[in-house]
Amino acid sequence: MVLSPAATAPKGDFWYSNATFFIGMHLLAFYGVVVLSPWSQLSWSTFSLCLTSWQLATFGITVGYHRLWSHRSFSASLPLRIVLAGMGCLGFQGSIKWWVLRHRLHHRYTDTSSDPYNAKQGLYHSHMGWIFRKPNYPRMALVDRKDLEADPVVRLQHRYYIPLTLGLGLGAPTLIGGLWDDSLGGFIWGGIIARLLIWHCTFAINSFAHFLGEQAYSEDVTARGNMLLAVVTGGEANHNYHHAFPKDYRNGPRLLDWDPTKWLIYTLHHLTPSLVPKIHQTPESEILKARAHVLEGRADRARSKEEAEESESSALGRKGGLPRWTKKQLVQQVSSLRADSSEEKQPILLLLLEGFAVDVSAYASEHPGGVAILQEFAVSSEEEVKDATESFLELNDHGWSAREKMRGLRVARVVD
Ligand SMILES: [Zn+2]
Ligand SMILES: [Zn+2]
Repeated sequence: MVLSPAATAPKGDFWYSNATFFIGMHLLAFYGVVVLSPWSQLSWSTFSLCLTSWQLATFGITVGYHRLWSHRSFSASLPLRIVLAGMGCLGFQGSIKWWVLRHRLHHRYTDTSSDPYNAKQGLYHSHMGWIFRKPNYPRMALVDRKDLEADPVVRLQHRYYIPLTLGLGLGAPTLIGGLWDDSLGGFIWGGIIARLLIWHCTFAINSFAHFLGEQAYSEDVTARGNMLLAVVTGGEANHNYHHAFPKDYRNGPRLLDWDPTKWLIYTLHHLTPSLVPKIHQTPESEILKARAHVLEGRADRARSKEEAEESESSALGRKGGLPRWTKKQLVQQVSSLRADSSEEKQPILLLLLEGFAVDVSAYASEHPGGVAILQEFAVSSEEEVKDATESFLELNDHGWSAREKMRGLRVARVVD
């Protein structure tokens, strides 16, 4: 990945408290896996507890922290907000307020030094490197926080975040494991390891979903759609669409896009409208326009490349802009090319089409209508120059792609 100096933020001081906690959790997980081997010591109950704790955290982050509080892509009643705030605590990713402000910075200044997870600083930085350095966000003051401060659930969760998150994320799984005499397993698998799973899945959105995958809706930022990652992130890795339309409650708008978070919000909205009164969906016309814009850009780039290659292989060796020829010069060019052309080489065939000389010599053998018709209209040194435009556009009703192909083979503008 190319680094632009302006896109890289200066390194902050080492963040000891964050680093100690982050590394400590990993060491505990490692120790726990060694002591409680998943092959011999892990019961199905404890394994289920781990998966449940991980998935509750996932949807707390995706439905709550991300699509509700960061983007307001749907509205939620007080009871649902309380449940989501609790589930979000299981993510061990800071309070709603802390998380949302950084996420809004990420969207507003994506891929710049003001982006906390700036993908242009490399995979390690965007995944977890940012955790180890004290940040400096001069543009944070520009991020809107009024809605967060107005929400009592956000305020309370922020105030009591540490006891809440330790209690729900580590204490509760330990107690639940105790129900089947496996408190240690509950702590390690339902607590520590489930926390690492949600950490690295969420971090992967900032790293891998800005690195690997398709860009079907926008090429303005590094965000990508990554189906494999979507499976373990509740659908969040449909990230290219999300950066193009962050206000949409869906991250994957197509029917078959893997996005359980959207299915959950949709179901809640339709079955319990009192919990989710409103959802926001981008109009289909805007989505299609975005896709068309991306495709148009790609077509332009492919066209430029093809033109460069075609000009190299053109019988006239054309380079740069198109020359202007009179019909007389056109006939002279054809005569001299034919005189220079050897017997074994393809015949020189130039058409006068839509006011341009079009070199179809190399293309003739691929022409779906055959070579004969091209030869019939080809400019010849002996007779008057025939204009192939009427035959091309009207009599033979060529489609858009055929017309584009011919435009790509132009070698000169013909003027009289
Ligand atoms: Zn992103
Ligand atoms: Zn977002």
